[in-house]
Amino acid sequence: QKERLRHLVDLPSTTADGTAIPLLANVNKLADTEAALLYRAEGVGLYRTEFQFTIRDRFPAEDEQYEFLARSAERLHPRRLVLRLLDLGGDKTLPYFPLPASRNPSLAQRGIGLLLEHVDVLRAQLRAFLRVSADHPISILLPVVRGLEDVRRARDVVRQVQRELSEAGRRFDAEAPLGAMIELPSAALMARSLLREVDFLSLGTNDLVQYVLAADREDGGVAPSYHPLHPAVLQLIRSVAEAASSAGRELTICGEMAGDPTLTALLLGLGLRQFSVAPGELLEVKDAIRRVRLDAAEELARRALELGTVAEIVALLGATGR
Ligand code: PEP
Ligand code: MG
Repeated sequence: QKERLRHLVDLPSTTADGTAIPLLANVNKLADTEAALLYRAEGVGLYRTEFQFTIRDRFPAEDEQYEFLARSAERLHPRRLVLRLLDLGGDKTLPYFPLPASRNPSLAQRGIGLLLEHVDVLRAQLRAFLRVSADHPISILLPVVRGLEDVRRARDVVRQVQRELSEAGRRFDAEAPLGAMIELPSAALMARSLLREVDFLSLGTNDLVQYVLAADREDGGVAPSYHPLHPAVLQLIRSVAEAASSAGRELTICGEMAGDPTLTALLLGLGLRQFSVAPGELLEVKDAIRRVRLDAAEELARRALELGTVAEIVALLGATGR
């Protein structure tokens, strides 16, 4: 499989009719940085910082975080790294950071909301990010944004940390973009408003599907109801893509859907123009992008959006071969 695709490594990620579709890598662990380079990712669309925390038995100090991130950023320079703030709660936990017991962790505080309740952890991480920004292009991504409150409160903390760094004579990029993950239905519905206050959006379909369908992403038992091709999911994706395009802002899809080459044409048709995928999926997705014409992709998406059930959408994709 990989052998068949090897020739694609140095070919551009463009549709058959010539539109460039930036292909970025998701980095979950250190080795992914090397794999991203090997398969020529154009940057890191989602750097999950959780792994720096899970390999330790305590919160890493700011300097440790900085050094860890700077190593990846150096390897990938001058490509941009979208660094996501620590995403805890829900399916992601740390042994040394006990969360209040919850009957329903996915519905408890998580992501940026949780970090804002532990502002020291947030500040240390932001200081590390901003110090990296002095020498390498980075963007800051807020996980599990519920709405404008999260963005405003997080931006206030970013400004405070910037002031402190300036006062301490530390360099940083004051223009490092700030973006929001769209992975809750509330955020998807608020995309237009969010876009007035953030620089970019990142579509996290793993959680979005879970919350739109109330179906646990981790629980095999309800797996049949966890379906990325549910018409409600496609409609939300479409509306977020429209919002980003009319605001002229970048939107990247970084959930698992982005890495599934059988969905590439549909996602292009729904308006997505930037994909961030596991490094091992880069070539397959590039192959799919290079085979599709945007007009055909748009026609496919138009037909999919007219259908009312998962089964009909699956059948449509099956019938069109992708
Ligand atoms: C997502 O939810 O789609 C996402 C990319 O974030 P994670 O998988 O890390 O929750
Ligand atoms: Mg998520």
